[in-house]
Amino acid sequence: MRKLSVRDLDVQGRRVFVRVDFNVPLAEDGSISTDARIQASLGTIQFLLKRRATVILASHLGKPDGKPDPKLSLRVVADRLSEILGKEVLFAEDCIGPETRKLVSEAPPAAVILLENLRFHPGETANDPEFCKELAGLGERYVNDAFGTAHRSHASTAGMAELFERPAAGLLMEEEIRYLASVLEAPRHPHVAIIGGSKVKDKAGVIANLLPQVDKLLIGGGLMFDFLKAQGKEIGKSISTGDSIRRAQELARNPKLVLPVDVVVAPDPDSGDKARAVPVDKIPKNQMGLDIGPKTVELFQSVLDGARTVVWAGPMGMFEKQPFDKGTTEIARTVVGLTDKGSTTVVGGGDSLAALYKFGFRDRVSHASTGGGACLQFLEGRVLPGIRALGDAYRAIRTPIVAANWKMHKVPSEARKFASELVQELRGVRNREVLVFPPTAALQVVCYELTNSVVACGGQNIHWEKSGAFTGETSAKFLVDIGCSHVLIGHSERRHLFGETDELCARKVRAALEAGLVPVFCCGEKLAEREDDRTFAVLERQLSIGLEGITEKDELVIAYEPVWAIGTGRTATPAQAQEVHRWIRSWVLRSISLEAADRTRILYGGSVKPDNIDDLMDERDVDGVLVGGASLDRESFARIVRYQT
Ligand code: PEP
Repeated sequence: MRKLSVRDLDVQGRRVFVRVDFNVPLAEDGSISTDARIQASLGTIQFLLKRRATVILASHLGKPDGKPDPKLSLRVVADRLSEILGKEVLFAEDCIGPETRKLVSEAPPAAVILLENLRFHPGETANDPEFCKELAGLGERYVNDAFGTAHRSHASTAGMAELFERPAAGLLMEEEIRYLASVLEAPRHPHVAIIGGSKVKDKAGVIANLLPQVDKLLIGGGLMFDFLKAQGKEIGKSISTGDSIRRAQELARNPKLVLPVDVVVAPDPDSGDKARAVPVDKIPKNQMGLDIGPKTVELFQSVLDGARTVVWAGPMGMFEKQPFDKGTTEIARTVVGLTDKGSTTVVGGGDSLAALYKFGFRDRVSHASTGGGACLQFLEGRVLPGIRALGDAYRAIRTPIVAANWKMHKVPSEARKFASELVQELRGVRNREVLVFPPTAALQVVCYELTNSVVACGGQNIHWEKSGAFTGETSAKFLVDIGCSHVLIGHSERRHLFGETDELCARKVRAALEAGLVPVFCCGEKLAEREDDRTFAVLERQLSIGLEGITEKDELVIAYEPVWAIGTGRTATPAQAQEVHRWIRSWVLRSISLEAADRTRILYGGSVKPDNIDDLMDERDVDGVLVGGASLDRESFARIVRYQT
């Protein structure tokens, strides 16, 4: 799913209208009970402020029914945002009208303005064209960061987007789309879905859409009782929505579905002291099922063992009340454990998110969706109006790669120790692919240490033949056997110290792909070549010979490593890196395909350090980094991996 991102827009010094989801929960006294939704949009706001854009924020709050309601004013949010940002947030008393236009047009660069509740006007939910025009008139650019409202076809989420030439997704929206699309479109297997919550009606669409993609789908929560009833079992006083039984019956025919084997029952939700577990075919008539039982937890854990992608929507039981929170807690713990081992774990739906908060696991999964209904509709395979309005076909959202080239450092015993420490240090890292390239002699021990971790391993070089009389060489087959997934090809030290030619690189690229390794193809110009303005000519030669015959089906990573920046302490500026990365992407587009240009990660390498990583990663075509010197120190490398967090 390709969408334009805020990172693709020219926002420098512009007035940028940002639709955010500041629909925060309010306490009785009108104060904000949790500011998670405000925090979630900070990435986009800071990104724009850094570029001295005037940030015009717009949101709804509650359901004021198209007229002003002082209890639902966004002023409290303006105050909280101002505290968080440590700067003034100008508050516009109305989201449209002459006063607001004046405030916006007179605001200096890098000002933040929050407009009053959009739903104080009936035009918002009616997607009224005149209201859309009024809103659109405030900004020169339009960004939608309100994933939680993307399932609504309202003026600020859909209608006004059409009035901009290049409507774009904010960073939060981008992350939501990336994760949710990845579990639907390109999951790593085994892929297991866990579906809970109270009603089959709410989740039937999600189950039906996920079943073709997953290897197993676990059913828990209140909706399990419709499935049990569909099998003719007695469910006592447990919840069941009668009309969904037939739907449950149809879905249950699929062999991928895994149903609970026992449930925790009690006379009612307030009789936790009388709770006990019973097999699913022994639920007493006068009892109510309120959680999955311990045998089911074990069964689910065994199915989840080794899963590389997990999508979870809906709690396993009535987690708000003890002791019926056990099933949900245990499954949450298992999902967190899988995240720590490098699996992609995506949690969606309002109740599951509330459960993650309750157990303190909010930040311990790969992605916890901020959208309740929007997330479920996305997982049902529906096209959400707010996402559709962002247009398509600009670029895919690419998971960043942070790679370490250890060169000829660390003998196997040191490398092994370092790898095991790194695995500990990087526990819980999300939203990154981490790769290490140890010396050949250390590959085996390092791969062993990295088993089931977030870090993958690759070789620094290969021979192009599979085997034979090539004393001192190692082929792709050896690397695959050891457990490597990647290989560096054409590193400048190999090109310039060992005389590797473009033709030789091409043979190695082919050998890697044939063996199932992902080539990380390095390219870059020398200082004299840059000074002679020959950078793009050199790259054209290196890429067109080295990557000859590559097709859209081949997975490939390209690393731009200007020779003058490697190991010299002279990093390319973010703008220099972006200029070349953009050129490389257009080369991939010209020479392979649009799909490949969208998907291919282009890394920057050359004196990357903890203090320059954040700015480099701000650039839209920089999809990660290849780090030499700074990767030899655990703390520096970990800091680079966790950039911008
Ligand atoms: C490298 O060797 O690929 C590299 C980028 O090294 P350094 O980070 O030390 O410049």
